[in-house]
Amino acid sequence: MIKLRGDKLGKVIAVANQKGGVGKTTTTINLGYSLSATGKKVLCVDMDPQSNMTSGFGIDSSSIKCTTYNILIEGKDIREAYIELEDMSGITIVPSSIQLAGAEIELVPMLSREFRLKNSINEIKKEFDYIIIDCPPSLGLLTINALTASDSVLVPIQCEYYALEGLTQLMNTINLIKKNINHDLEIEGVVLTMFNARTNLSIQVVDEVKKYFKGKVYGTIIPRNIRLGEAPSFGKPISLYDPHSKGAEAYEELAKELIERNGEAGE
Ligand code: ADP
Ligand code: MG
Repeated sequence: MIKLRGDKLGKVIAVANQKGGVGKTTTTINLGYSLSATGKKVLCVDMDPQSNMTSGFGIDSSSIKCTTYNILIEGKDIREAYIELEDMSGITIVPSSIQLAGAEIELVPMLSREFRLKNSINEIKKEFDYIIIDCPPSLGLLTINALTASDSVLVPIQCEYYALEGLTQLMNTINLIKKNINHDLEIEGVVLTMFNARTNLSIQVVDEVKKYFKGKVYGTIIPRNIRLGEAPSFGKPISLYDPHSKGAEAYEELAKELIERNGEAGE
């Protein structure tokens, strides 16, 4: 069932960082779920051919007919790809499949190749409060489609030795998109992930990232938490897999902080 929410347009947020393993998918799933658990209407879109977001929500992508691939390449209506997860606060997801790996090349000769995701998301912005897009670990056309479709970018950064490496490249890409394609694109925020309070390194990384991104860094820091690493193999957001874990608490806090920054009260 599609519920219309008046004329208010939902906010589209791309979760991006071209480095793999920094927590993009974990953040998309758990921030998305935590937002929906506060009563927000949320759509999570999988733009990574590896489909970790899709499987992390308990969906087997090999059994699915309509995915982000069919939307981008065949122009299928995004509503055809909706999977509504009634047992997960009613969150809706748009899955991906390994077929999407080919889209990076198939998009190249296509008309308005950067705008294909935007065109389909624009039609459904009224249906949701938040639309969160999980990006692949690259700065190719899939990520460019996500950044073009978005109002803002949320950047997860892992608290490890090379944390800041590659961020200049990411910021350059964001600035190029802002200048040429999507003038209003903003940084939604920077979230530090896999923080280990027992190491000086984690603490140093937090300081460095705060210096680089100033006020954009969330006060909520996501700890390294074994339960967060386990939850995807059970196909559940952390708050359903282990509601009392540190990981669940952290993502619920992050959702609250994001809602507050956007000037809204929780419902
Ligand atoms: P990305 O999407 O950026 O590649 P993932 O979200 O898939 O990164 O995270 C990489 C791996 O680390 C996954 O196995 C995930 O389950 C695990 N992971 C992510 N965040 C945490 C965390 N805070 N604590 C422990 N493990 C985590
Ligand atoms: Mg991922």
